[in-house]
Amino acid sequence: MRKRWGSMLLGLLIAGAAITSVRAEETPLPSIVILLADDLGYGDLGCFGHPTIRTPHLDRMAAEGVKFTQYYAWCYCTPSRAALLLGRLPVRSGLNRVLGARSTGGIPDGETTLAEALKARGYATMCIGKWHLGHHPRFLPTRHGFDHYLGIPYSNDMDRADQGEPPIPLMRDETVIEQPAVQDTLTRRYTEEALKFIRDHAALARQGQPFFLYLPYTFPHVPLHASPAFRGKSPRGLYGDVVEELDASVGQVLQVLRQEQLAGSTLVVFTSDNGPWLSQKLDAGSAGLLREGKITTWEGGVRVPCLAWWPGTIAPGRVVQDLASELDLFATCIELAGGRLPADRPYDSHSLAPLFRGTGSGSRNEVFYYFDDQVTAVRQGPWKLHQKTIESASGQTKSQIQSPPLLFNLATDPSERFNVALEHPDVVERLTKVIEAHRASVSPGSPQH
Ligand code: MG
Repeated sequence: MRKRWGSMLLGLLIAGAAITSVRAEETPLPSIVILLADDLGYGDLGCFGHPTIRTPHLDRMAAEGVKFTQYYAWCYCTPSRAALLLGRLPVRSGLNRVLGARSTGGIPDGETTLAEALKARGYATMCIGKWHLGHHPRFLPTRHGFDHYLGIPYSNDMDRADQGEPPIPLMRDETVIEQPAVQDTLTRRYTEEALKFIRDHAALARQGQPFFLYLPYTFPHVPLHASPAFRGKSPRGLYGDVVEELDASVGQVLQVLRQEQLAGSTLVVFTSDNGPWLSQKLDAGSAGLLREGKITTWEGGVRVPCLAWWPGTIAPGRVVQDLASELDLFATCIELAGGRLPADRPYDSHSLAPLFRGTGSGSRNEVFYYFDDQVTAVRQGPWKLHQKTIESASGQTKSQIQSPPLLFNLATDPSERFNVALEHPDVVERLTKVIEAHRASVSPGSPQH
């Protein structure tokens, strides 16, 4: 009897191995492109309802792929990039504050970036754009999994001479090649570099050696700059010019993937790092119907557009209301690359691969909202509980403890206008416990400044 079970088990193992190798031959690992706008709001794209900014390429990407309506980033730049590239709450790596030109800290050596994880799976890697995880040599992209880098190491407004900040440097790998960076042509030059990278790696990718391109655009973060070809063209003004140039850039990236016969084997994600910087007035974007913007944990600060495109795998024209987070891109990409999450540390990342393949839905049940190292709110299903709120649209950031907490139903009240805590004491009690348990479970990393 034992022998028979043993041979059955052996047979199953052989069958499993055969399936694995057949699948590996039939479906080579996909290449991955992540396009990240900076401070683009939930309402800034045509496919998310903007009436005057023209984004035909992103609208087409949405029509050919999936559009997430409840996708979350962070409330400002540095922690957002940490969440995306590490798959862990930024507080765990100590990257919960915005780094600047005079910062001494950055991404800790002990963290595993998405680029490092994909490189271990055989991916060629490149980062083009704003890094913002530390600008000293040991923190640069080339020290954290990227074969090459072209871009500015932090935000394009961090050149205030009165605060001792130097002109914005443009770097290639670890060398400053231009200072101050000529910002008018940054988007165009990033795009040219991206097209070159894709073309250079296309033949290898077709033969099963994939690439990972991470392109965190510098804009529409202020100060706004657009190439001469786009300047003065959008009905929305300079902000519209800048977003329309980003749209054209995305269109060129998708077009070169089609030309190189890589459309069916490349996942492309377009999203933003945080909501609009409303205090910049006309130079700021729009959160659409969502409340407030960047530097707050109201929905407008953290819920951003997200599109994913992978013809032949992602069904066209899907609109997904499942909860998703930029934290989830890490587990998603690792799964698509045939790898596993490292087991030596906690992750906060839920793979979207089943959703992309049409074999399952999103598996994220909660979103925790952070301001610096503090949890301010939680979302579970339609319910969002705020224990602390932050206002920033006026230009002065003010926070307020909410005791008793505020409760909103984001399904019926996406603009967070009507506090319904008194009507739902059971939900308030449940979500309060969820926040307390979460708070007790997270160990902060050494703060990076
Ligand atoms: Mg930003």
